[in-house]
Amino acid sequence: MDTLGLYFHIPFCKGKCPYCDFYSVTDKSLFEPYKDALCDEIRTKSRCKSLLADDIQNRPVDTVYFGGGTPSYWGADNVCAVLQTAKTHFAIAKDAEITVECNPSSPDLEAFLSHCAENGVNRVSLGMQSAVDSERKGLGRTADAAKVLCAVHAAKKAGIHNISLDLMIGIPNQTKESLQESLQFLIDTGVPHASVYMLSIEEGTFFHKNAHRLNLPDDDTTAQFYLQTVDFLNRNGLSQYEISNFARPGFESRHNSRYWEQEEYLGLGAAAHSFVNGKRFAFSRSVSDFLQKKEPQLLDCGGDNAEYVLLQLRMNKGLSYVRYRQKFGKDLAQSVLLRAEKYAKHGLLITDKDGLRLTADGFLVSNTILCDLLDALDDEETI
Ligand code: SF4
Repeated sequence: MDTLGLYFHIPFCKGKCPYCDFYSVTDKSLFEPYKDALCDEIRTKSRCKSLLADDIQNRPVDTVYFGGGTPSYWGADNVCAVLQTAKTHFAIAKDAEITVECNPSSPDLEAFLSHCAENGVNRVSLGMQSAVDSERKGLGRTADAAKVLCAVHAAKKAGIHNISLDLMIGIPNQTKESLQESLQFLIDTGVPHASVYMLSIEEGTFFHKNAHRLNLPDDDTTAQFYLQTVDFLNRNGLSQYEISNFARPGFESRHNSRYWEQEEYLGLGAAAHSFVNGKRFAFSRSVSDFLQKKEPQLLDCGGDNAEYVLLQLRMNKGLSYVRYRQKFGKDLAQSVLLRAEKYAKHGLLITDKDGLRLTADGFLVSNTILCDLLDALDDEETI
């Protein structure tokens, strides 16, 4: 029986960061009803029953992820109640990776982490974004770098050593030097994992409305920041394994790897996405819909070979010809290989007897390359 990941979306934040378009609300009065609804869904699967096979509860669960939003704002009692209910109603493996996302500015983080660790949480993802206080402030973050360090220490004190820090590049006022300060800070904390995201200005956010007032680095500068980050982290023991992710050996995120390996996961909660029994579906971005037991919506088909190519090429190990053949019973289309050669000549992609993989320069223009390769795949398969 194939393994399964569990994802719980906790859509609560203390406020709204000016760049964020994730679904989140601030109303604390919803904390308790939301916890009850999540536990009810874990027990009864009433909202997504029609989309799940009867034996879902028997599938070995080897990763659990509490994402948000801000699970640390929701509180340890709520996180642990959901985790304990999941342990009763799913076959969670003893060595499962159990991650909780935290904001370093959440109050009582030490108590939160120790309570979570006692209940089985063994991985923490902390939203640092920048170690430069003025940059963090510009992103609406209240914790200073000292608080980020306290959060790392609190996790270690609770016995959680699998810690990830999030870093953003291309943010207002960032320079090569300030980025270097953040990178050095990150390495000095000794954490074994980092996720690095490029700021993207999304419609509907405060940043989108005020983009003309932001002192944003231009695209070329942000590209240089990305290469600076990849180079520095690789040289300091955090090897890049995915376009945005870096880890010491053995600390790669097992849960997030499920997404790139096209493995299945069940996502519960408002705005949570799932890929189960070959189907992708998502709950609406509404706490009240979830409380009212609205069913998730089926999305366009997932799990096909085009999606697989796209996901595999996000990772440094790239796309293996053998695994592609094993999974889809055919070779990768010749037209894709021909186009891949074109990018290989420009140092954006590596092609060898085992498969294809993007270089650091290739990751920078991955959208263009992937669209082109998928066009070739599509053309060949519609002939
Ligand atoms: S804490 Fe995270 S999820 Fe919440 S508003 Fe800020 S960026 Fe968005």
